[in-house]
Amino acid sequence: MKKIDILIIGSGIAGISLGSLLSKHRKVLIVEKEKEISYHSTGRSFAFFIESYGNKQIIELTKISKEFFKNYDNLFLRKKGVMFIGNNKQKKIIQNFYDEHKTKINLDYLDKKKTLDKASCLKEKYINSSVLDINACEIDVNALYEFYRKNYIRNKCEILKNFQIKDVDEKNNKWIINRDIECNIVVNASGAWADEVAKKFLIKKIDVVPKKRTVFVFKPTNIEIDNKWPLIADIEEKFYFKDQSNQIYASPADETPTYPHDCYPEELDIAIGIDRLQKSTKFEFKSIENKWAGLRTFVMDKSPVIGFENYKKNFFWLVAQGGYGIQTAPALSKIAKELILGNNENKIMKLEDFYNISINRLR
Ligand SMILES: Cc1cc2nc3c(=O)[nH]c(=O)nc-3n(C[C@H](O)[C@H](O)[C@H](O)COP(=O)(O)OP(=O)(O)OC[C@H]3O[C@@H](n4cnc5c(N)ncnc54)[C@H](O)[C@@H]3O)c2cc1C
Repeated sequence: MKKIDILIIGSGIAGISLGSLLSKHRKVLIVEKEKEISYHSTGRSFAFFIESYGNKQIIELTKISKEFFKNYDNLFLRKKGVMFIGNNKQKKIIQNFYDEHKTKINLDYLDKKKTLDKASCLKEKYINSSVLDINACEIDVNALYEFYRKNYIRNKCEILKNFQIKDVDEKNNKWIINRDIECNIVVNASGAWADEVAKKFLIKKIDVVPKKRTVFVFKPTNIEIDNKWPLIADIEEKFYFKDQSNQIYASPADETPTYPHDCYPEELDIAIGIDRLQKSTKFEFKSIENKWAGLRTFVMDKSPVIGFENYKKNFFWLVAQGGYGIQTAPALSKIAKELILGNNENKIMKLEDFYNISINRLR
């Protein structure tokens, strides 16, 4: 029987970042059901860090993560900026967005001319105005993941791939998995599979909803890509695109509710994305060079679920990071580590309940 302190289920950014921190203090094991690590959402993201993205809790978590990223500035983040664009119908939305965030984040309001100066690929007749967040960054997800993974391995902890949970038992407050692994605490970091994993441990589900998002890649035939363009996002998140490696990576920003699975892009979603780009940009292209889809997993309030299960001090949730799980990973893993090692909280907490408590403790 393998005896460990903490079993983490899932090798995505959530599992590996927390594993990296806990492995300094406890004997940890990460298990992954796939043949490869980081195969699902973490390996399929758009790799952006945007301070004005998401709800209040996400914005707070992103702020905490920013401190971590600052310490490793050149390693993980590359400043690129994000420009939230609007057409004539969206003029007011642009203005409201600017008014809401301008005191907290460094933003510039750009009129039509300034918007077009920033990104010559946009269609003049489409644009009304935009808001520019020059501090938004591209995240080197691979480097961040490897940073956590190497720390974890350095602390002599293991990742078991191709691992299926077949049998779960509980004796004397210890979990026994597959009659082979005994541990004190299980961390559910299984992303879209969060409820399925909980069921195996006879824990009530929290109703996560995986939502599919599509990305497609093309090379314009009519204009030179300028790598000084910021990430360009529709102010209502109906599409966004960025340049990378002299190609354009674009998304129709679809959010199709689905079930946990290895998802693939639908032709219809790509067609919607192309249509939205054709209306707003000058891009012409002959073929799609690459495409993929991934799951962004949410609970109702779109905040992550982090904390011990009610009445069960040995089952910890670290799930529902939605579309922000990479940029919030440094913050969430730090808070989760504090909670697990402190072991004080014994209920599921939404960030809203939890945030002040953790902040007090962390400071
Ligand atoms: C298209 C797209 C764009 C995105 N863009 C951004 C972005 O720009 N910025 C940002 O911050 N975030 C972005 N995200 C969100 C981000 O990718 C996710 O929030 C994050 O990757 C979630 O990490 P995770 O570890 O929770 O999930 P995952 O990476 O999915 O990891 C969960 C792992 O658990 C494993 N697992 C499940 N069940 C079991 C089991 N029974 N036993 C063992 N292992 C199991 C799975 O196989 C999987 O490997 C994007 C997501 C998508 C899909």
